[in-house]
Amino acid sequence: MPRRPAVLLAVVCVCVGVWGSISTQKPPPLIVILLDGVRWDYVNIHRGNGLPGFERFFSQGAAAEYVNPAFPTNSFPNWHTIVTGLYPESHGIIGNYIYDREASKVFSIDDLEGAKDPAWWSDAEPFWITATKGGLQSALFLWSRCDVPWDGGVLPRHCDPFRFAAPNTDNMVQNFRQAVDMIQNQGYSLAMVYDGIIDTQGHYFGPASSEVAAAVRDTDAALQQLWKDLSDRDMIDNRPRDGLDGQGRCGELDVVPCLEESQVEKVVEYGGYINVPTKSWLCDGVMESLRRCPTVGENVNVFLKKDVPEPLHYKAHRLILEIVVIAKEGYMIRPPQTAYSVPESAGSYEGNHGLDNTNGRNPDMRAVLYAVGPYFAPGVRAGVVEQVDVYNLLCRSVQLQCHANNGTLAHVEAFFRPGVPLQSSAMSRGGIPLAALMAIVSALLLL
Ligand SMILES: [Zn+2]
Repeated sequence: MPRRPAVLLAVVCVCVGVWGSISTQKPPPLIVILLDGVRWDYVNIHRGNGLPGFERFFSQGAAAEYVNPAFPTNSFPNWHTIVTGLYPESHGIIGNYIYDREASKVFSIDDLEGAKDPAWWSDAEPFWITATKGGLQSALFLWSRCDVPWDGGVLPRHCDPFRFAAPNTDNMVQNFRQAVDMIQNQGYSLAMVYDGIIDTQGHYFGPASSEVAAAVRDTDAALQQLWKDLSDRDMIDNRPRDGLDGQGRCGELDVVPCLEESQVEKVVEYGGYINVPTKSWLCDGVMESLRRCPTVGENVNVFLKKDVPEPLHYKAHRLILEIVVIAKEGYMIRPPQTAYSVPESAGSYEGNHGLDNTNGRNPDMRAVLYAVGPYFAPGVRAGVVEQVDVYNLLCRSVQLQCHANNGTLAHVEAFFRPGVPLQSSAMSRGGIPLAALMAIVSALLLL
């Protein structure tokens, strides 16, 4: 069973710039690196004798004060917010676990084959598809369900979809190297690399553990290797910036004594919230039971879907079912682990995410965003960035026209140097100028 879970999260999005001038017609190639589970303060608390790989990123580019993830502050919803600019209620990936009552199907981060079903993903086109349609040769490494085809068959040129990997950085080192090589030698202009080692260790051992510290150091070594590869190939051009602080611990809440299988169809998710579809006319009774639940006390808010507060942006989608229970700040809902739970069971963990981060609550859910490169302003500390804004930064970086989204380009405008063109008229791209590479390292850290 989970015990004493610590709460944290951070999205690091670092952009590395390589040679290439602003006056160039074509934007420099872009590498986006998503480091899952990198809480916003890890680079400080696990700094040890220094983390030159990270520090080079955030010391040489533009950085957000912090990034507010979308609610729920979990992996799949936020991965998809990053690449669509939409809140989960609009892009449809509303949790790591989803119950589609109409189709009687379950989406689960633990069942990646089932999660590949295009039906889950049909609400919003991801950035890599827009990029592919726009003529960018795109390569994705362990990044979400990049293998889901769009419009009857559009896929990125290279896709190795998400899977759970061994907790070492071998994949990361290899993927960084392959990404750089593909850009230099194979005509790619967009590479998106995901790695989950820090997230994995954070869940198992907790954010302050020596295992997380080791994972941060190993990740730093992989980043240093990336920097070296770029430098050896004459593909770099940088400048500096820095990081943040925060940490918290949560009390756990047990909702099981207040749920009855005869009344409840499913209990979906755990942690920051649960979604409870009830058996037809029993909604009022279940609401009342949860509101009076002695093992939960005053530490949750129980909402009818239609009454979920606006700042959460979590009520518009049909997959959000009728009762939404959200833990108050400082609390988490223990995995129910009943026959009707989704997931049915959950392993033990020392850290987690998914909590309500609206209105300044649970600041450990915050993430970071760094950007370094020829397009990015050196030494700039931008303000607070919402997760939905990051999509606009990605589109602007490669001069693609974003789809309509919930983010605001103005919130990330400070990241860019004056004179960076807004959008390329010619989206067809020939050869990539060799010494022109830009990388975004984005680490979504949720623990
Ligand atoms: Zn996680």
